[in-house]
Amino acid sequence: MAEAIENLNNVETKPETLKAELEAARAEIKALTIQNKKTARELRLQADLADRLQRQAALLANFRDSMLEENANLQQYMDLMLRNFSDIIIILDKTGNVVFVSRSYLRACGKQEGYEIKGAPYSQLLDEMLSDSVDKLRDYLEKTFSNRAAMHGTVLIDFAGDGLFSDYSFQMTPMLDYATRELSGVLLVFHDITDLVAARNLAEESRNEALLLSKAKSDFLSQMSHEIRTPMNAIIGMTTIGQSAESAERKEYCLVKIKQASHHLLGIINDILDMSKIEANKFELAREEFDFEDMLQKVVDIVSFRTLEKEQHLFVKIDKRIPRRIVTDEQRLAQVITNLLGNAIKFTPQNGRISLSADLVGTDERSGSCAIKMSVTDTGIGIAKENLGKLFQSFNQADNSVSRKFGGTGLGLAISKNIIELMNGSIWIESELGRGSSFIFEIYVQFGKPVEPSSFAGWEALKLAAVEENREALAAFRSLVYDTVEEFYTFTSFEDALTQIKQKKFDIIFINHKEEAPAFIRQASALSPDSKFIIMNYGDSSELEKAHPQEVPLVAGFLQKPVLPKQLFSCINNCIGRVEQREDEEIGVFDDFSACRVLIAEDVDINREIMSSLLEETGIKIDFAYDGLRALEMFTAAAYDMVLMDINMPNMDGHTATQKIRALGSDAARDTPIVAMTANVFKEDIDKCLESGMNAHIGKPIDIEELFEVMRRYLTP
Ligand code: ADP
Repeated sequence: MAEAIENLNNVETKPETLKAELEAARAEIKALTIQNKKTARELRLQADLADRLQRQAALLANFRDSMLEENANLQQYMDLMLRNFSDIIIILDKTGNVVFVSRSYLRACGKQEGYEIKGAPYSQLLDEMLSDSVDKLRDYLEKTFSNRAAMHGTVLIDFAGDGLFSDYSFQMTPMLDYATRELSGVLLVFHDITDLVAARNLAEESRNEALLLSKAKSDFLSQMSHEIRTPMNAIIGMTTIGQSAESAERKEYCLVKIKQASHHLLGIINDILDMSKIEANKFELAREEFDFEDMLQKVVDIVSFRTLEKEQHLFVKIDKRIPRRIVTDEQRLAQVITNLLGNAIKFTPQNGRISLSADLVGTDERSGSCAIKMSVTDTGIGIAKENLGKLFQSFNQADNSVSRKFGGTGLGLAISKNIIELMNGSIWIESELGRGSSFIFEIYVQFGKPVEPSSFAGWEALKLAAVEENREALAAFRSLVYDTVEEFYTFTSFEDALTQIKQKKFDIIFINHKEEAPAFIRQASALSPDSKFIIMNYGDSSELEKAHPQEVPLVAGFLQKPVLPKQLFSCINNCIGRVEQREDEEIGVFDDFSACRVLIAEDVDINREIMSSLLEETGIKIDFAYDGLRALEMFTAAAYDMVLMDINMPNMDGHTATQKIRALGSDAARDTPIVAMTANVFKEDIDKCLESGMNAHIGKPIDIEELFEVMRRYLTP
């Protein structure tokens, strides 16, 4: 362009040249303008870029600030977590040295905060903990380091070394560098699962217990089914045989067997009911006053037919210091002794010896109570030591072979233990396999009303002798009479006795019954005509009468073995012609109630039939009401000497009927004895009957003796 201007100033320049130059200048100006515009745009762009960069820098600065803040927060959260996290966390670097331990670790180790473990090798951690699994942990850690493998498992560790072990589940996780993927360390986490393990163990235990219980129950059911079916089988079988039997004796035989089996069945049912009462915590004792020896005599009478069958020797020793009358539950105490004697008989072979003894072991005059220790000892099969503990548990027997061989429900001892414990006592066993057993218990009872001690007037000059080959029986006999008579001699053979008889002239000679007894009596009475002879026998005395009728006139009396004090004393008194005052027994009562009328409320046909038959021999007049409502109507319409009242009846039950009768207002309604006659036989059932206004209670199945005893009580003037 400068050239073009030069050319303009140069006049000599040709116009064409000028024009061309002008064009060129114009083009140059245009190019320059374009260039300028470009430069300006670029400048604008650069300013924009600078602006954007500035804004981004500000954003980044913001971002960094918030990151720093977040990081600080995270650090705080991590710190908080690690501080309060119950899991134990340990971080090892890639060489296996500790870089971090959580506070929970320090707590578990019982270390103060600030305890420095950083930098220590993990072997030190392992050495400091008590565990059977240290080697396992070491092995796992080595694997985690060498294979970069995550490992986990459970261990029992005592971190503090104070003997308190805890269960942990652990996790070992390899940590890898983000960029290089090289191993940078290992994270170790221990999670305490002690409670979980305990809960699992508990659940397992209760599952096992439930399994055992359900096995025991199913064993029990099958055993029980067998126990129930056996007498049922006898009842059904004997009924069939009896129906087709021709002779009266055969029918009688069947009836006796049916009766025995029925009683056995009733015993089983009673045991089951007792056990269910115990399990429901509803087992209670009655408190009543009774004669201790009379109770023992009843028990002995119940079991002695079985000892007779097995030809076993049964001895009874009663400490004379035991009060005659005591207060506790007579029936339950008798139940325990019957059970122990029943077992002794069952588990003792033919000809074995069984003894029952009762001793006074303590007296507390202030509270009017005493402790009585009783033991039942046998020479039977005995019990292995390992089985002793479980016999008092319900459904338990010494072992399966016992139940197979001897039967039984395994309930008797469990029930006995409960009864004894309700009497504030305890029961235990002393036994050796093959050498017999002793079941011993102690109970606390109240004294009953004092009873005049037995009078031995007229006995002072008596000379007694006993001939018995069994020394134990002889000793028991001696303990009964030793301080009551002037002289008492014992002989273990008839020959020995015969050598002394002529000279000693015994007043009474007690003889154990055996084959040679009649001959001995004949010889002895020839030597000492004034001596009186008493035969002692386990069984029925009628045996001797049948076998040797000619000796019977020479015999002054019979004593049923085992001999209990009362029996013996009254026998001696009879011999010396002393008339005894009988305490409770009414002698020679003839059950003639023909002058009386009884109302029996009973809805079941067969029960009415049984009552009619049982009462027939008494001559009593019977009116039956088929339910409580009818009984109430009949009572209002006629005069009765007694009402026997069933409890469960349609229309109106026995309790309501009794209450309504008592509420009638007349003298008869107030005074007429009403006796419950029901299969509800627990203490609370009896109490409920008395509460509704009844006078007494008779359990079903009816025990004829009990029924007659109640009728005598209320119908005899
Ligand atoms: P049951 O006799 O009906 O089985 P118990 O509870 O009375 O039930 O007895 C439990 C177990 O105790 C018996 O099965 C038996 O194994 C053992 N036992 C009880 N008494 C004796 C005894 N006198 N001699 C040996 N074992 C006995």
